[in-house]
Formats: sequence, structure tokens, C-alpha cells
Amino acid sequence: MRIADLIPLTEVEGPGTRAALWVQGCSIRCPGCCNPAYLDPAGGRDRAPMALADELAALPVEGLTLLGGEPLDQAADLLVLLQRLRERSRLGIILFTGHPWPTVQERFPEILPWCDLVKAGPFEAGRHPDSRRWIGSANQTVHALTGRYRSLAESWPAARREIEIHLRADDIVVNGTPLPGTPWPGASPVPRPSPTVIPPPRRIP
Ligand code: SF4
Repeated sequence: MRIADLIPLTEVEGPGTRAALWVQGCSIRCPGCCNPAYLDPAGGRDRAPMALADELAALPVEGLTLLGGEPLDQAADLLVLLQRLRERSRLGIILFTGHPWPTVQERFPEILPWCDLVKAGPFEAGRHPDSRRWIGSANQTVHALTGRYRSLAESWPAARREIEIHLRADDIVVNGTPLPGTPWPGASPVPRPSPTVIPPPRRIP
């Protein structure tokens, strides 16, 4: 499975404390895509879905948000990941897909029993920004598939601008929703950008 990035603990990619997994590669190619670095299916890095699921299942978070890229471009591996997660954890699963909801239902019915909530639909630059938190454009729809996030879906929180800065062993990563018009290094300044990895500063000899 090709993945672009993983943040093991975030509070700006969905409700509560979550892991966020950006899947690498997207065939949808929305004009104005906010994650151009994640479109190439050959980019990112390989992870075995079973081992990745075991790593995610051990995290001290309430849920997992799957973003991209387009997670459903790797539906077979995604299914393995989700089934293993269900065996090993009680993580609440939120899937962000660029496919419209009817397409998700028609082409990927095997994925839906493993998800608690799906945000569906391509990014439409002309309908951005949206008034809802975590949602890129007003055409995108939200579907609660279990009771876990039903109250959230029925009373979706209002948009807010928020970022996190994560210090990692070899780099610094920024994720979240920046202020409108804020330059976003490595990605366009629109909501749901990919995490922006900042190279570490050079050491002074
Ligand atoms: S916005 Fe999402 S679905 Fe659209 S091209 Fe970019 S990664 Fe793909």
C-alpha cells in the first residue's frame, strides 16, 4: 500500500484525538487540488497493510481519518487494513474520498461496512471555502454509516482555521486548515492540505 504520510496523534483532522493517514496517489485530479504532492501513485512509500493496521491499532487515539490522495484507489489494500483494524482496535473510522457518494456506493460497497463516517465528493474550487469544519468545498457530502459519529453528522461543527506543528525525529510537519490566503509551503493554500514537511535546519559545524 502506498502511503504519503501518517500523523499518529492529531486534533485537526476530524473529531477528538485521531491518527491521520494520507494515502498516496489519486486518479480523480480535481482542478485546484490542495494535495498535488500526493497525486502520483508511484510517490510516497510502501507499507504492508496488515503491519500498518497493527501500528495504528496500538495508538492511544479515538479514531483514524483516511485522506489522500484517494484512499479508494487502493481499495483492496484498504480493505485489508480496515478489516485488521476492526479485529485489533475500536478506532472510529472516517474516510475522506473524492468520489461522489453514489459512486462510492456503487463501486466500493465492500469498504463501507468498515467505515463509521464517509465524506464524499471531489474538491470544487468554485464552491470553496465551505462553512463546515474539515470540509473543503460545499458540494461534498457527509454520511454516517454507524451510530458512532451520527450526532456529529447531524450537527456538523462550523469551519475554523487551525493548524498543528509536529516535531518529528527528522523533520517538522504542519497540518490542518490554514488562514485563507496564507502561503502554504509545498501545497496550495486551501483547506485539507497535505501535511507540509519542513526540512530540518542545517547544523552549524
Ligand atoms: S482534492 Fe483529493 S480527490 Fe481531488 S485530486 Fe486532490 S487528492 Fe484527489
